[in-house]
Amino acid sequence: MTSIMWFRRDLRLRDNPALFAAGEQVLPVFVFDPVLWDAASDTRRAYLVASLTSLNDSLGGKLVLRTGDPTEVIPSLVKEVSADSVHIAADFGPYGMARDANVEKALDVPLVRTGSPYAVAPGRVVKGDETPYRVFTPFYKAWAAHGWRAPATGPLPTFVTAPSEPMPIVTSPVPLPPAGEAAAWDRWNDFSSAALADYDENRNRPDLDGTSVLSHHLKYGEIHPRSLLAELKPENIVYAKEICWREFYADILFHNPTSSSHSLDARYDSIMPWASGAEADNLFDSWCHGRTGYPIVDAGMRQLTTTGWMHNRVRMIVASFLVKDLHIPWQRGAKFFMQHLRDGDIASNAHGWQWTAGCGTDASPFYRVFNPITQGIKFDPNGTYVRTYVPELAELSGASIHEPWLSPLGLPQSYPERIVDHKQEREVALADFASIKGRT
Ligand SMILES: Cc1cc2nc3c(=O)[nH]c(=O)nc-3n(C[C@H](O)[C@H](O)[C@H](O)COP(=O)(O)OP(=O)(O)OC[C@H]3O[C@@H](n4cnc5c(N)ncnc54)[C@H](O)[C@@H]3O)c2cc1C
Repeated sequence: MTSIMWFRRDLRLRDNPALFAAGEQVLPVFVFDPVLWDAASDTRRAYLVASLTSLNDSLGGKLVLRTGDPTEVIPSLVKEVSADSVHIAADFGPYGMARDANVEKALDVPLVRTGSPYAVAPGRVVKGDETPYRVFTPFYKAWAAHGWRAPATGPLPTFVTAPSEPMPIVTSPVPLPPAGEAAAWDRWNDFSSAALADYDENRNRPDLDGTSVLSHHLKYGEIHPRSLLAELKPENIVYAKEICWREFYADILFHNPTSSSHSLDARYDSIMPWASGAEADNLFDSWCHGRTGYPIVDAGMRQLTTTGWMHNRVRMIVASFLVKDLHIPWQRGAKFFMQHLRDGDIASNAHGWQWTAGCGTDASPFYRVFNPITQGIKFDPNGTYVRTYVPELAELSGASIHEPWLSPLGLPQSYPERIVDHKQEREVALADFASIKGRT
């Protein structure tokens, strides 16, 4: 009998428990669901197509592509090839869970869920009283104590095929790194043989190649976090913790499905005096284009729009700037990130934003406002990162690049004046916070 392996966020053959559970003769399929496809940016569409192309190559060209509502496409494919079951890795996002439940209802063969995109599936780690965690450190301890399975192994099935649509052609607006399982492992091998040893020290330095840059590979399941955890040694605990942040945010979203677009602390959406109107639009526009006059913010936004990725430390700096210096709701920034990030992931993005804004989980408290100048000097001490993305300032030496307005030569003509005064706006943010504190 033939079974169907419906690939979604698990575009790999290695350590893929759903694939190993699918049986001996498997028809591999990917469905372009217009709901997800239309909502994605060209950056993510192009990356997905490259990843699917790589998967198709590993499958000897047998990947079947179909477009449409999965609740219609999957049952119809089951009939077409007389499949006896459909296999998936469980999805724990709000849309994915509802979609899978609907597909299950529409099928007259079993929909078998094996594994998930996480080492520990969302919902598994709960407090003693069975309620979910909302604070990272206790979640991390419980997650580490819970543990995870060893990477899945097994003989690959025989793949069969059926008529397929052609692979879509999408042009990415930014250059993309190589996609696919082999590329993910190449990147991991490069990182683990060089930068992993100094990860604890260098991970906050955007001027260094100090992090793994695996987030897009993890997002599409080209490599599984369990495979990475299995490669780590006890001294790599900080890296394991970062993997755990991804799992923590997936768990938070699982328990709070509306938190993809609503603040966990509802006061921030309803009573915070957020900026709006034409003035806010102009400020937002300057932020998007990397023309705020604050070099580290501008470098980050330009890294995002020209490469489709941004260093984590800088994501926090630019997010804090949007929310606390420009007083613009985090949702607007999160949407812009999703349009540009190649690793755009609803859970990590919405909760990375909420953490920084101070309205989410064990948030960096609202009164902790990132100072874009001191952050720049501390984490980009020689100005190398800013110089890469803000060439207008390239003539300024060392850390002086973070305060170009102090340069004896004056601000380069092509670089903007600061759009707001950080000190002043910090006070405004603190006053806004005080105004909602204690209110329900
Ligand atoms: C405002 C904001 C938005 C973000 N949006 C996304 C997003 O859309 N998609 C996304 O994958 N990550 C997001 N992150 C988390 C983090 O910035 C990226 O995962 C990280 O920069 C990816 O680079 P890396 O692979 O080199 O990370 P590494 O430092 O090498 O970490 C290894 C892996 O751990 C996970 N990880 C590390 N830090 C975090 C974190 N803080 N939260 C969740 N997972 C983490 C990622 O999967 C990452 O690939 C966001 C963070 C912030 C502050």
